[in-house]
Amino acid sequence: MLSKGNLIVISAPSGAGKTTLRQSLRKLMSDLEYSVSMTSRSPRSSEIEGKDYCFVSREVFKDWIEENKFVEWAEVHGNLYGTPREFIEKKLKEGEDILLDIDVQGALRIKKQFPSALLIFICAPSMEALEKRLQGRHSDSPEEVKKRLITAAKELSFSERYDHIIINENLKDALAELEGIVRKYRESGKRRGEKSGCSD
Ligand code: 5GP
Repeated sequence: MLSKGNLIVISAPSGAGKTTLRQSLRKLMSDLEYSVSMTSRSPRSSEIEGKDYCFVSREVFKDWIEENKFVEWAEVHGNLYGTPREFIEKKLKEGEDILLDIDVQGALRIKKQFPSALLIFICAPSMEALEKRLQGRHSDSPEEVKKRLITAAKELSFSERYDHIIINENLKDALAELEGIVRKYRESGKRRGEKSGCSD
């Protein structure tokens, strides 16, 4: 299958400001589709089914794996997360660009299957800053914060395999940088006339 749309992947350690940046980018680019992941984790109080995630049991998630219904999936912080295949294939075929907010394992799997996908890594200015942000959120226990910091260090080691790294010192500058990178990538796809050379 020759795809026409582009995949834009963002990853970041928790606390680096990725969700805010992703939501702000989508406000600036209303034609950018968003791939809603499926997860076995429980919803947080602010999250909406079908908008933030599709929340399912581990059993249902495993059935989907068996049926090859994910483009990629991974276990993160003890929960399962996956990118539903049907949405991605349909939208790419229609020539739509899709934003994915997934972890480093998923991002590298996407790049393998879709070599022209754009991979953007967002990080906090330092581990100390990240720790402060995680503590400031008051949504995680001290043990959870510790776990997320260990994961963050591992994730950071994958950042060199990304096309771009954005250091989120402040939201305004990071958003401007993100927008610039994505616009340039989408434009170059259009100019090439092939939009992406993804084969699947
Ligand atoms: P959270 O539970 O904080 O929403 O997400 C935890 C991590 O899972 C984040 O790094 C997020 O980007 C990642 N994630 C969310 N959806 C997917 C997905 O479909 N696939 C993969 N590989 N990671 C995902």
